Amino acid sequence: MSASPTRTAAIIGAGPAGLFAAELLAENGVSVTVYEKMPTPGRKFLMAGRGGLNLTHTEKLDGFLHRYGAARDVLGPMVEDFSPEALRAWADGLGAETFAGSSGRVFPKAMKASPLLRAWRARLEGLGVRILTRHQWVGWSPESDFLIRSEDAEQAVRADAVLLALGGASWPRLGSDGGWAGWLEARGAALAPFAPSNSGFRADWSEPMKKHAGEPVKAVALSHMGRTVRGEAMVSAYGLEGGAVYALSASLRQAIERDGETVLSLDLKPDWSAQELASRLAKARRGESLSNTLRKAARLSAVQIALLREAHREVPREPEALAAAIKDARIVLTGIQGLDRAISSAGGVRFDSLDKSLMLKAIPGVFAAGEMLDWEAPTGGYLLQACFATGRAAAQGMLAWMDRDLSSTD
Ligand SMILES: Cc1cc2nc3c(=O)[nH]c(=O)nc-3n(C[C@H](O)[C@H](O)[C@H](O)COP(=O)(O)OP(=O)(O)OC[C@H]3O[C@@H](n4cnc5c(N)ncnc54)[C@H](O)[C@@H]3O)c2cc1C
Repeated sequence: MSASPTRTAAIIGAGPAGLFAAELLAENGVSVTVYEKMPTPGRKFLMAGRGGLNLTHTEKLDGFLHRYGAARDVLGPMVEDFSPEALRAWADGLGAETFAGSSGRVFPKAMKASPLLRAWRARLEGLGVRILTRHQWVGWSPESDFLIRSEDAEQAVRADAVLLALGGASWPRLGSDGGWAGWLEARGAALAPFAPSNSGFRADWSEPMKKHAGEPVKAVALSHMGRTVRGEAMVSAYGLEGGAVYALSASLRQAIERDGETVLSLDLKPDWSAQELASRLAKARRGESLSNTLRKAARLSAVQIALLREAHREVPREPEALAAAIKDARIVLTGIQGLDRAISSAGGVRFDSLDKSLMLKAIPGVFAAGEMLDWEAPTGGYLLQACFATGRAAAQGMLAWMDRDLSSTD
């Protein structure tokens, strides 16, 4: 790729990773064009806004970085360079002042993405960034340039540096569908297969259990493979979903992929010890029905009682055994809910295909950022934080690449 007097960058994909890179590049005097296949930019970002737009988290950095699992070593320096505090300051600067909820999750006060995205687009426009919507990357031209198809034309796009910020493969109707994977593999990039992350899991519910679809299971502790997560789950017609389930989704998915099914343990009363629970149950009136005892003495909701019955074919009556059953209700998960409705995806461009600046080793001058890279994290703001941080890191890499290129062609 040759350098021109005004450095040019092409960015494919107008999600948070691509737009954030566009901002930094334009601030540094680069002429930036963003190509987006959908009619409007940031569709998944707007969808995230429906849940309040959990931008990041106040958790201490060590714990924060732990959420990226195996990708921690690569993502850590980028998140340190563009920290949760920096992301909040950036949002504040766009008039989307943030607050931290009691769980530590950070949201804009408006609890939606549209005002922030509107202000952001105005800023990008002011910086001269061109966003071309309905422009889709459809593969390579005969000269190995990026072939972009718009409504009435196809063009081969060249720039001093290109950023791919194509997103993962979940919720494909929002634009990111992973359709590009084969084109990168054909040029020598290694990809890990896409898999649903932060997704629900199937359970073969009995007919009585199915009646509770749509009911939240509040203040539950879920355990899998030695890890326990407290939070809320949601019973759905097909199985279980919700924040606490998503937090365990990587290990649940791996176990199901390996063994075909896996057992999730629910502590339906995590705030009470087994002993405390047993002594409350022991005070139940003689002759009282089991449901009434569970409702009154154990203060279980209807959906919690249904889950207890689902887990234990014979629910014990003796207080200590009943307390133990409540604190270890085992549900067999038999499948993974598909990519279509997963919050995010695992898999994508492997880090060993990228150099430290997020440039594809096999295609010099082409960088990648955001959810299309091979990392995953639970919900809680960790996803968007990494998309912003990798978008920024890639933009810095592009600037360094373009400057090196310029000096070498003098
Ligand atoms: C329902 C839901 C709720 C969520 N809530 C949160 C939340 O609260 N907090 C959080 O941290 N994360 C949340 N996420 C995840 C978060 O939105 C994503 O991780 C993030 O948007 C990914 O950013 P990205 O820029 O990498 O990709 P995307 O936002 O997916 O953007 C990629 C863009 O590339 C475009 N594109 C793809 N292929 C092509 C092509 N061939 N040519 C041109 N353009 C192309 C797509 O149309 C898309 O606009 C949520 C996701 C969903 C689905």
